Amino acid sequence: MNQSAQDTPLLEVNGLKKYYPMNKGWFSKTSGYVRAVDGVSFKVMPGETLGIVGESGCGKSTMGQMITQLLEPTEGEILFQGQNLADLTEVEIRKVRRDLQFVFQDPYSSLNPRMKAFDIVAEPLQVHGIAKGKELKTEVFRLLETVGLGAHLANRHPHEFSGGQRQRIGIARALAMKPKLIICDEPVSALDVSIQAQILNLLKELQQQFQLTYIFIAHGLPSVKHISDRIAVMYLGKIVELADRDELFSRPHHPYTEALLEAVPVPDPRLRKERTPLTGEIPNPANPPSGCSFHTRCPYVQDICRQKAPSLEEHTPGHVSACHFPLHKQATN
Ligand code: SF4
Repeated sequence: MNQSAQDTPLLEVNGLKKYYPMNKGWFSKTSGYVRAVDGVSFKVMPGETLGIVGESGCGKSTMGQMITQLLEPTEGEILFQGQNLADLTEVEIRKVRRDLQFVFQDPYSSLNPRMKAFDIVAEPLQVHGIAKGKELKTEVFRLLETVGLGAHLANRHPHEFSGGQRQRIGIARALAMKPKLIICDEPVSALDVSIQAQILNLLKELQQQFQLTYIFIAHGLPSVKHISDRIAVMYLGKIVELADRDELFSRPHHPYTEALLEAVPVPDPRLRKERTPLTGEIPNPANPPSGCSFHTRCPYVQDICRQKAPSLEEHTPGHVSACHFPLHKQATN
């Protein structure tokens, strides 16, 4: 890859929004909107892994579905290799969809139970007219072996595999299109801890082998820690902090990130820091709190937080956060 290609984002998302109208009855007027994603912007460089973290309902999966064109945005733009996806024709979008693949959270429900592993992996190759006959067979066996499944397992149905093996089939299916970007939507959260490590290692190996770029979505920081180069933290449809992984783990700026870090196990008790655990429920996205949407759960809340929403600002190079009283500033005061 030449230098300029490396400097150009593979994906750029600007002001992305997804609002769902709320109606009380079939014929009633819209009474408001659920702001599932509310003005999100970020870039992903080629070969990078961007982790996106937040509790259930923060909008992270909705955002992944908009990027892969499974959902239409309400507003905002998605640029893939510099092209605004909204400007493309249906034929062009179909080509781009090959480059943007999705690995789902629950491999059992995302795989057709009536299809054999062979057919699940072969299907996208057939639909896009990429391979048939002997060539198709060779390619499917190669893909299964790439993800650590022997070709002898190709005739089995999803229920005959373990959870980790099913996720490997999902990954093989995503790889079939030779994608550039894979959105991994909580790909290990349904798996046992020991299997999680195997799948994360597989994803890292495949990234090296095929120069893949990942967006890795998770509800907690531990599962994104080992795979991400940078991490974005989402709360109620917005990014509240984005930084390099090591910087985010060692110097979180936002109280929400600090609270998520509380959930990360630290093996050595001498290295544990005094942190404030997260309490309270995530607010209803149909009726978000005024001002800073985190103020109902924030241990550092002050009057201004209830009135004025903080903007996302770069407080230190490459490290942005949305808080009136970022933690690194509190520490130096
Ligand atoms: Fe907490 Fe205020 Fe910062 Fe929001 S703006 S995270 S309420 S300190």
